[in-house]
Amino acid sequence: MVVHSTIHRCACAVLLLGAIAGRSHGCRASGDGKGGGAGPGAGTATGKGAVPSAPDFPISLPIGAVVPDPVTLLPGRPDVFVGRVTALARALQCPNCAGTGAKVTRHRDRAPARVVPTMRETRADCVDCHGTGFSVNPSRVSPVLDSLVLLLGGVDPDAPSTTKLLDKARTVLERLGTSGDLVEKVTATTRNCVTSDRIPCRGTACSVTGEVGAPIPIGGGVRLIPVKVSAHSMVFLRAPIINAVPSGGAVLAGGVIAGPIEKIEWQWGQTMILDGGYLVPLIPPEHKGPGIDADKDGVIDGPSPPVNVPRGK
Ligand SMILES: [Zn+2]
Repeated sequence: MVVHSTIHRCACAVLLLGAIAGRSHGCRASGDGKGGGAGPGAGTATGKGAVPSAPDFPISLPIGAVVPDPVTLLPGRPDVFVGRVTALARALQCPNCAGTGAKVTRHRDRAPARVVPTMRETRADCVDCHGTGFSVNPSRVSPVLDSLVLLLGGVDPDAPSTTKLLDKARTVLERLGTSGDLVEKVTATTRNCVTSDRIPCRGTACSVTGEVGAPIPIGGGVRLIPVKVSAHSMVFLRAPIINAVPSGGAVLAGGVIAGPIEKIEWQWGQTMILDGGYLVPLIPPEHKGPGIDADKDGVIDGPSPPVNVPRGK
């Protein structure tokens, strides 16, 4: 009798899960794919990396799922850590404008009567970064970011300098989270792996953008923070060292790969766990440059300059 009721309960659970899976699949049928249906609140200029916002997240792991053991990370020296943070900050900057988003040009004033020629400065959006101040070259950023992520897990939580170190790292990672195109390029490889169920080696660092959900308790006081990478793929963060995201929304997240969750059959495909790492908000980039001076008269055309509009209109 006891056995029978257990089986009965299992069957119910399976039915319930099936119903949930079916329902959410139905909801998403039209919103899958990159750059496609960005949901309400996602209407930003960056379009490209927009994550389809389906509200549903798992509330627990399926029964029998086996979570990989945490990765052991080697302790790093604080000075090495600071060096890496500085290197990342530098790598994020557009080299053409030193991160200012503006290019200043000095002209000699052509008035002939003056004894001392006067100089005039004109400022325009940097042509490389289009006024954002961010580098357009992800290959400068990715290796530095990965090595910083590996060092993050090795920070000694009891050392007196740790709070300051992590503050510095958080500031730089948050800046990366506002870099728009750059952050999408830097995270593209991982996103492709995750969405096609290819999980990189245990012990490697990775970063990805997505939408964060409520933490899932898995016993032993451990909680997994879900980050939905696409409508049908997800990663989990286990005990991120830096967590600057209090609630939901678009995030940039990274960590060291512990491996996939084993014995799991669900709508999210192969799901990997990242240890250590970080979680920061993903915010559309702000325009830092002065704007565009298309007619080169030294006057900025306006905050949202018209493109290819004939002059005088
Ligand atoms: Zn620039």
